[in-house]
Amino acid sequence: MKLNKQKSPQAEKEFGGTLGATCIPVFLPLTVLYLLCVCRSPAASVLQWPPVLPPTAQLWDPLALVLILGWMALQSFFYLLPMGKVSEGMVLTDGSRLKYPINGFHALCVTAVLLTLSLWLGMPLGYLFELLLPLAVCAIGVSFLLSLYLYICSFWAPHHALAQGGNTGNPLYDFFMGRELNPRIGSFDLKYFCELRPGLIGWVVINLGMLMKEVELRDSASLAMILVNSFQLLYVADALWNEEAVLTTMDIVHDGFGFMLVFGDLAWVPFTYSLQAAFLVVHPQSLSPLGATAIITLNGAGYYIFRKSNSQKNQFRRNPTHPSVANLETIATATGKRLLVSGWWGLVRHPNYLGDLLMALAWSLPCGFNHLLPYFYVVYFTVLLIHREARDERHCRAKYGLAWDSYCRRVPYRIFPYIY
Ligand code: NDP
Repeated sequence: MKLNKQKSPQAEKEFGGTLGATCIPVFLPLTVLYLLCVCRSPAASVLQWPPVLPPTAQLWDPLALVLILGWMALQSFFYLLPMGKVSEGMVLTDGSRLKYPINGFHALCVTAVLLTLSLWLGMPLGYLFELLLPLAVCAIGVSFLLSLYLYICSFWAPHHALAQGGNTGNPLYDFFMGRELNPRIGSFDLKYFCELRPGLIGWVVINLGMLMKEVELRDSASLAMILVNSFQLLYVADALWNEEAVLTTMDIVHDGFGFMLVFGDLAWVPFTYSLQAAFLVVHPQSLSPLGATAIITLNGAGYYIFRKSNSQKNQFRRNPTHPSVANLETIATATGKRLLVSGWWGLVRHPNYLGDLLMALAWSLPCGFNHLLPYFYVVYFTVLLIHREARDERHCRAKYGLAWDSYCRRVPYRIFPYIY
């Protein structure tokens, strides 16, 4: 069979080009391990020099490999179960639409039932705290292997199945960005599966493990730990409840499935997003009722903005005549698609990022003000979303041209009203 080595003619390199694609796969996995070590150390200082390094013996545990592979297999099994509905993705360049099972929330519920049962039978979930480092090492290893598999298989994919950005002909860059847009094994969509299942559900299971560890150590869970667990569970449950909306996001519609997304989904999300819970195990914090109320209000406000704006855009893209969006002001573009210029998308150009960032802050505040580490997520996420906004802006300007410019004039702020 002929290999598809076709290159995208005008593929513009992102993430620092070849240099970025070479350094990021080394730097980010080391960052995950470093942050996990720091967060368990008594000082929990990201500024400590020399940095906290783990003894090699703490990096590997065969049980961790069994757990990671078992977890992936279990979530794959739930993905394949005939639960929930089947939805169609956006139209692809060959005019076809792929089908996706919308059963992520079912998978979360079945996982919750299994976990409750296992805890009732005495499973020591708190042991996840001791296993964090070897689990992260295995997740990183799996990410590299899966990305390599995807890169190799992409040479057998038809041209129309390739992503625009990951086909420069430079192996390091293409491995990083991902050559194929929607790699599948039969009807099993690897990108869609990884995007919301093993990593996201894994994140809240790790959080629960940290809560159980705290109960083991101090006989009860602290308010700070309960808040962090509840906020993040709400976020994950919301993402899975609204799973269909992921079909219109940049990750699914635009980006190839390469190391960037594989590592992000399988290693970065579960092991760095759970840092606050892991931090609280070693560094308990007391929280006043007033402080807790303020943090809950902040998370609620962030969630409201995030959910309402994402649903509005998703509804508008799926059915612009739906009564909830039909009266919103829009501008026409040469592609036939329209852009919202009122409602949430008339406030700033990325209201969903604004809500997400408010929530990110609320997840860190229960960890107090004595350490920087729990704020890693807000800082990283702000950088990620500012960069993501710039990428999206470039894509939209290329897609919509003058119409995008007039949208930008009508809605001058990107994420923070009157600030940015
Ligand atoms: P968005 O959901 O913001 O989608 C951007 C796309 O929306 C654009 O490319 C354009 O696509 C469309 N669009 C932009 N402006 C308008 C408008 N005025 N009217 C109508 N359509 C418009 O992109 P993301 O995938 O970046 O984000 C999805 C969610 O995921 C966000 O809430 C984000 O915060 C969250 N997220 C979370 C991450 C995490 O790690 N926790 C990481 C990344 C994202 P088109 O016109 O082609 O439809």
